[in-house]
Order: sequence, then structure tokens, then C-alpha cells
Amino acid sequence: MANTTAELEALLMQRSLTDAQLLKAAEASADFRILPQATVLKIGGQSIIDRGRAGLYPLLDEIVEARKKHQLLIGTGAGTRARHLYSIAAGLNLPAGVLSQLGASVADQNAAMLGQLLSKYGISTVSGAGMSAVPLYLAEVNAVIFSGMPPYGLWTRPAAEGVIPPYRTDAGCFLLAEQFGCKAMIYVKDENGLYTANPKTAKDAKFIPKISVDEMKAKGLQDSILEFPMLDLLKAARHVHQVQVINGLVPGNLTRALAGEHVGTIITAS
Ligand code: ADP
Ligand code: MG
Repeated sequence: MANTTAELEALLMQRSLTDAQLLKAAEASADFRILPQATVLKIGGQSIIDRGRAGLYPLLDEIVEARKKHQLLIGTGAGTRARHLYSIAAGLNLPAGVLSQLGASVADQNAAMLGQLLSKYGISTVSGAGMSAVPLYLAEVNAVIFSGMPPYGLWTRPAAEGVIPPYRTDAGCFLLAEQFGCKAMIYVKDENGLYTANPKTAKDAKFIPKISVDEMKAKGLQDSILEFPMLDLLKAARHVHQVQVINGLVPGNLTRALAGEHVGTIITAS
């Protein structure tokens, strides 16, 4: 089996870059995690930030307290303003790549606001996905804020149907957690987790504490509380094999989830 650098190099010179033996050899080295102690939080756009003070102030207090014990990468959702932009831009027949930039600008706005609110604790916003100084921020204050939209911009891969960019802030935050090999990924939203149907419209919806990606798809819930491409990202991930969706409007939930407690819905890769 080719597992030395020399063997891998020989394969890389001779084969296509998607050759099966080459791909296997390229994965043979020991696992490496860049930020293994960090947790990525996604603060929901529509579900939390759009609630303004009522949704955010108690949650930010919890974050400020939690970062004494936990390294936090805090990503923002976009929410209602992005949906408004998407409706105008789609009505104008603009393409997914343009809508992606518009959505990113709203996630940026939300990151800018969180940055101002947490400034007095030394917690800063890094712009866009310019993440190079993140280790320094973590070393100094254990936390940093980033804008959750992945920076695909005009290079967004369009969805099979429609012009809404398929990879938005749920995916953007997850991809960072995965690339950095983070300890955990927590989605902070406004429901206790996943239900058998949208609890905002279905009164008899039942709570699901734990579920796998395949079970979610089998139940037709792939397009519900997380952006649907997220499920495939989770399944293919090398480091992050589960995510937890919690209700950030319930005080204490975030602190408990960071401590490893099961307070919402855990979605597992398998
Ligand atoms: P974010 O603010 O992070 O973008 P969203 O508003 O996009 O979050 O997603 C969370 C919402 O998903 C919930 O407020 C809920 O109304 C909706 N939702 C739809 N289907 C479900 C479901 N089966 N279980 C739970 N929530 C659901
Ligand atoms: Mg959303």
C-alpha cells in the first residue's frame, strides 16, 4: 500500500487526481485536527438574531460566560433580510452567484452587530472567511465571530432548481468546523430541535431527540431545520460526525450543550 510521501508523489505524477488508488494513498496519513479544542456555534439569523434584543442579550451573556471554559468560533446566520433580498433578486432573474453575495452581505451585517456587542469583552469579528488570525484570537480571548455564509460568491455551484444558493450559513459554519477539525458543532435556533414536522405550523409535531442523516431522509425531513445539503456534508465529514441543534431562547441550553449535554436534537452522520 502506498503510504509514504515518495509513493504518493509517484502516484500524483502519473495518475489522474481522482484515481482511486491515489485518493486512498492521499488519505493514508494520520488524522490531523487544526483546532481540536474549539466548538463552532451558529447563531441563527431568522431564528435568533432577527429577534433583536430579546433573543440576543441573554444568549450573548451566556456566550461571554462560556468562553471562559470553551474556545468558541461564533458564526452568524443571515435571516429575514436575506430572504427579502433573495425575493427581489430572483424576481429580477439574477443568478445564484449574485444571490450568494447578497446573502453573505446580510450574514456580514449580523457578524458586525455581534462584534460591536462583544467588543467590550475583547471579542472581535473576522471579516468574511478571512480566518487566518483565528488562532491568535482564540489564544487571547477564547472566542471570535465570523460571518456564516461560505464565500463562494459568483462561483456558487447552482442548485438543480431555482436560484437560491444551496450552501448558506448552516453549511458555511459546518464546513469551518469540519476543516478545522473542531470538537463540536452546535446550531442555536428557536425550537428545541427537530420535530416530525415544522412545529411553527404543525401543532401535533413530535420532538425527535436523536436521528441519523439516513433516518432524516427516510422520514422526508431532509429539508427542515437545517439546509438540506448539510446532511450530505455531515455524512461525508472526516472529523465532525454529529451536530446538535438547540433552542437558544431557553436560558442555560447553550452552556449545557457546550458541556456535552444532550439538550436538543443530535443529528449523527451514521
Ligand atoms: P436559522 O435562523 O438558523 O436560519 P431557520 O429559521 O432557517 O434557522 O430554521 C429553523 C426553523 O426551521 C425553525 O424555526 C422551524 O420553524 C423550522 N422547521 C421546519 N421544519 C422543522 C422541523 N421538522 N423541526 C424543527 N424545525 C423545523
Ligand atoms: Mg436558515
